[in-house]
Amino acid sequence: MAEKPQPVRVLYCGVCSLPPEYCEFGSDFEKCKPWLIQNVPDLYPDLLKEANEKEADKVADKLQSTGISGAGDGAASSAGSVCLCNPYYDFDVLAPKQEEDKQEVVIEKVVRNKRKCITTVKGLELFGVKLSDASKKLGKKFATGASVVKGPSEKEQIDVQGDIAYDIVEFITDTWPDVPEAAIFFIEDGRKVPAA
Ligand SMILES: [Zn+2]
Repeated sequence: MAEKPQPVRVLYCGVCSLPPEYCEFGSDFEKCKPWLIQNVPDLYPDLLKEANEKEADKVADKLQSTGISGAGDGAASSAGSVCLCNPYYDFDVLAPKQEEDKQEVVIEKVVRNKRKCITTVKGLELFGVKLSDASKKLGKKFATGASVVKGPSEKEQIDVQGDIAYDIVEFITDTWPDVPEAAIFFIEDGRKVPAA
């Protein structure tokens, strides 16, 4: 019984249209490579390896360009498992800009224990004002208690008893001419509003 000849499936490279085993002698082997990896990965086993290494390099480059120190070590060999959600990744971009250095006085009315109202004054020290001195002056001017306390961010601020928010601006600019009215802000409903 004569065997029925199987139709020979001839495969040609989708890029250079040579049979894939001739691609490497063709005019543009580089361009053929992706097609070969996709369609005949067994024919050029080195290509796959090469591609994986390139991929690893890319990841390593990415990591280095985002400024992660030490990520270069071993990144190429374990690129598949490098986690880009690393907490240090892009940390600088995500961290909110610190406003510590901004030279401004921020006044906020805080109601404590329902009836007790306190006016906090932050930032006077940025204008060369001594806080203990300012606290005394404020207490005397408004005939109330005032003290220097550490705020939530460990920075010192002045707590003045009572709601003096709207009289305080004039007093500050009169007492400390170095503090411009334009640098004084109120916190109202969680928003910063210029006093001027
Ligand atoms: Zn080809």
